[in-house]
Amino acid sequence: LALLGPAPGAPCCPHGPALLFVKTSQGKEEGRRFYACSACRDRKDCNFFQWEDEKVSETRLAAREEYNRNHQPSFTHRQNMDRYKNFVLLPSSKRRFCQECQQLLLPAEWGKHSDHQFLCDITTAQLKRPSQLLYPLENKKTNAQYLFADRSCQFLLNLLVDLGFRRVLSVGTPRLHEMIQSKASQEEEYSVRSLLLDIDFRYSQFYTEDEFCHYNMFNHHFFGGEAARETCRKFLCEESGERVIMITDPPFGGLVEALASSFKKLMAMWRETEKEGDDCKEMPMFWIFPYFFESRILDFFPSFSMMDYQVDYDNHALYKHGKTGRRQSPVRIFTNLTPSIIVLPEEEGYRFCTVCQRYVSSGNQHCEICNSCTSKDGRRWKHCVLCKKCVKPSWFHCNNCNCCTLQKHSCEKTDVGCFVCGKAGHKRSACPSLSHA
Ligand code: SAH
Ligand code: ZN
Ligand code: ZN
Ligand code: ZN
Ligand code: ZN
Repeated sequence: LALLGPAPGAPCCPHGPALLFVKTSQGKEEGRRFYACSACRDRKDCNFFQWEDEKVSETRLAAREEYNRNHQPSFTHRQNMDRYKNFVLLPSSKRRFCQECQQLLLPAEWGKHSDHQFLCDITTAQLKRPSQLLYPLENKKTNAQYLFADRSCQFLLNLLVDLGFRRVLSVGTPRLHEMIQSKASQEEEYSVRSLLLDIDFRYSQFYTEDEFCHYNMFNHHFFGGEAARETCRKFLCEESGERVIMITDPPFGGLVEALASSFKKLMAMWRETEKEGDDCKEMPMFWIFPYFFESRILDFFPSFSMMDYQVDYDNHALYKHGKTGRRQSPVRIFTNLTPSIIVLPEEEGYRFCTVCQRYVSSGNQHCEICNSCTSKDGRRWKHCVLCKKCVKPSWFHCNNCNCCTLQKHSCEKTDVGCFVCGKAGHKRSACPSLSHA
């Protein structure tokens, strides 16, 4: 399956314009092109499908529009704001949150939710930390909401404040947004501001239209239309010299090319706002993503580099900081800022490599032959003279495959032919020239 990208005039599903795909086999495009939902990779979440060359009848178009309307949230963002104003006026004994509907309840609505589980006595502190009140959407394929561990969130915020940024465009980072918002409401001097762009509309219950836009980062769709787009554009204007940085932590199953295309549009939005000084620069950005996507990200953003910092999560069994020693998280920061200014915490073992001019993890050794700190996963890598590069510690050089790989592998998987006759399609043990001998 290959993505052909956002296409002009694409049909819409409840998640905005669909993306154009094509089936591929062995790298060749094959068969008909079709449109599918940009946001949901699981058909159960959104089953939108249309052939590119399909004629859609008027009746079906009308039905689709009706369907899209019916699949919008039951309250608008504006309505949710009015509800919130009423909610905070309630005495705490009347503040309820329905866990089933993931919704703040006004007393008049209690009846409708009477057989639902709910929380009572919702405090102001809880309202300031919606990411802890709402349950994380863990649907692997579609939403995959993995929330930053406090340590990582704190680190990111301190880092960007130290770098001099005062505005944060938080794209799919509700917990970072909430940390900024809650500091701003507690400390009068706190001058950092954040705008959250996220597809999770539940957050519209807690933030104004200047603090949250319902947004789809796979097709750059603002559900709130032109007004929401304008909010974002205004936020990106660096009035009174407040520098802005974009931070994003997309679902890892996401299509890198679709994300890159949206992020370029956000960068263009930033560039088009009036800027003092040189205008050819890129909007500063942190893209948080697993290290094994490095080459994909660099394909789209050659100015980016990967930092060694391991981002930890609260609700991700694999990527969380263990009690004894840590499981290594594969999640990293990709940025277009100069690597040397990204200071990583020495108390967590990171150190500065003067040759590479960046902070590296404790296990990452500078290889004299490669002339760089080559580890990607935090473990110490080893140099292979035959491959002329550093490889994972668990790999060894296979003479059949002529490259480094896992000890356990089947040599036939490569296009390199049989070791005996050189023909492809079988390995040495099954070579016909041997059995005839
Ligand atoms: N670590 C972050 C959360 C990352 S999880 C934090 O703690 O703040 C991925 C986030 O992207 C979630 O908030 C999810 O709601 C959002 N998301 C998922 N699909 C999206 C889409 N298509 N468009 C915009 N946001 C999306
Ligand atoms: Zn309910
Ligand atoms: Zn090396
Ligand atoms: Zn090798
Ligand atoms: Zn081999």
